[in-house]
Amino acid sequence: MLARKPTRAPGAWTHHAAKFLALVGLLSSVFGSLGHAFTSFRPPGSRCPSVFQRASKVVISGAGPAGLLAARCILDRRPEAEVEMLEKRGDPRTEQITGFRAYSLGLNIRGRTALQHWEGLWDLVSSKGILSDKFLLHLGGQQLQLRANRPGSVPTLLIARNDLCSALLHDLETRHGASGSGRLSMKFGETLQDIDLEHRTCKTSLGRQMSYDDLIGADGVNSVVRTALSSVSDFCCESVDLPGQFKVWVGPCPESLDPMAVHAMSSQDYTLFSIPRVDGRLCTILSWTGEKAPAFLENSQEAVRQQIGQDFPSFGPPALSAIEQLQAQRPSKATTIRANRYHDRAGRAMLLGDAAHSTGGTLGQGANSALADVVFLDQLLEKHGEPGISVVEDIGEEFSAARQPEGLALWKLLQLPPKGPLSALYVISQGLAGLVSRFLDGLPLAPPVQNLLSETTTPYAEIVSANKFWLDLALKDAPGALPSTAAEIVGQVLFDQVAPEGTEAH
Ligand SMILES: Cc1cc2nc3c(=O)[nH]c(=O)nc-3n(C[C@H](O)[C@H](O)[C@H](O)COP(=O)(O)OP(=O)(O)OC[C@H]3O[C@@H](n4cnc5c(N)ncnc54)[C@H](O)[C@@H]3O)c2cc1C
Repeated sequence: MLARKPTRAPGAWTHHAAKFLALVGLLSSVFGSLGHAFTSFRPPGSRCPSVFQRASKVVISGAGPAGLLAARCILDRRPEAEVEMLEKRGDPRTEQITGFRAYSLGLNIRGRTALQHWEGLWDLVSSKGILSDKFLLHLGGQQLQLRANRPGSVPTLLIARNDLCSALLHDLETRHGASGSGRLSMKFGETLQDIDLEHRTCKTSLGRQMSYDDLIGADGVNSVVRTALSSVSDFCCESVDLPGQFKVWVGPCPESLDPMAVHAMSSQDYTLFSIPRVDGRLCTILSWTGEKAPAFLENSQEAVRQQIGQDFPSFGPPALSAIEQLQAQRPSKATTIRANRYHDRAGRAMLLGDAAHSTGGTLGQGANSALADVVFLDQLLEKHGEPGISVVEDIGEEFSAARQPEGLALWKLLQLPPKGPLSALYVISQGLAGLVSRFLDGLPLAPPVQNLLSETTTPYAEIVSANKFWLDLALKDAPGALPSTAAEIVGQVLFDQVAPEGTEAH
């Protein structure tokens, strides 16, 4: 197992500028028991298992976008499955969301295509957010519209993560809760803690001991399922904290700002990135690149308001409640995850979404790709569709083989731009590619990476191939890119080739 937590040194001006432009890129993309019991007889056509079929218990850790959609997918496809979902936090429909978890995100064409895989789901989810194609970069008193409203372009759905989860939960409970198939058991405020892959048992924060037939880790960057998998000899993962930190506040939209647009503005010390919400308020992410928060945030609330208003006249001083949220909140960090595969057949455990391949929210692809993971899971279950067989045994190998290269490609794209003076060259080349693709559509030039990410469904691995030159340069500086130990060298090889089970990592 290779698990490291390196940190990177803070960069020079070019790095800072490149990070801001990368942020702009990111931002633009904004656009019981083992069920050994036999169930009672059910009438034909019922989605529940018949008297002859053993119920299989699927435990899902984490009720984020990936976990909620995976629960629906498994319950739809496997009539014998009973799903127990554990979620550390409260019910998103009733819980008061504070701190960084109040953030909003953008579902682009990838997330939209994923949700459209299930009839009616896109309509349900999109009713909880707002569709926008407007991305405004504020530069020295000017507003630059970065995303063109090209004919045929698909607007991004801007939605609070919590509202996305509420919509997916509503859909899931309607179908499989007590008034639906009755095969879903939701446990909020209960955390999955100890996992024994060998005996396929786990324990929760409430001391409940459970057996499982399948275990799905959809529990985000700090996944306990991934930690358990780390004990498997041929599983290898890496977790890296990105430089910089952020805080989030939700407050009234200043009258000076277009309430339907995403806004980005940057000062020497920090950046504001604001996303409109369906309730008319604005979710703002305040981020900085160093390890220490800008000193002014420690000042009196009124002084902080005035400083932000002074730094960003087009935003003006935020409401007092915004500063209260900022000062009551610890800074958050973005963490990237890469793993050499996403399942363990013997332990019947599998990873989805951020648990398998987080980019820390920095590319605007995390939720989009988490939903796409589940579409692929659904397609595999439809193809194999052998009720009674463990989901992971059935499709785990194929799932890893297809999704790991995509997750790894996403991680590679996150390493752009190359560090040092080349970063400026990269930024210029991307700008030119943007102009060419906008005004000279016919030319055989690849559009900028960010356009491919946020406006197309081109597989991430293809985007990597099309940008090999820049990526080779960028990957030289990526964490672990210059492996110094044997374990690291093996790790590099393992990340690049999905390790089939049975291969020894080291
Ligand atoms: C500031 C910010 C902006 C972002 N912007 C975008 C964007 O524009 N577009 C985009 O696509 N993505 C964006 N992302 C990323 C996106 O939010 C994530 O990639 C996405 O939520 C991943 O979904 P998930 O279900 O895999 O994991 P999560 O959403 O992290 O859900 C995991 C769930 O598991 C629960 N959990 C954790 N541990 C346990 C445990 N042991 N037991 C039980 N439950 C547990 C957690 O409470 C959580 O609810 C952003 C992220 C951040 C932080």
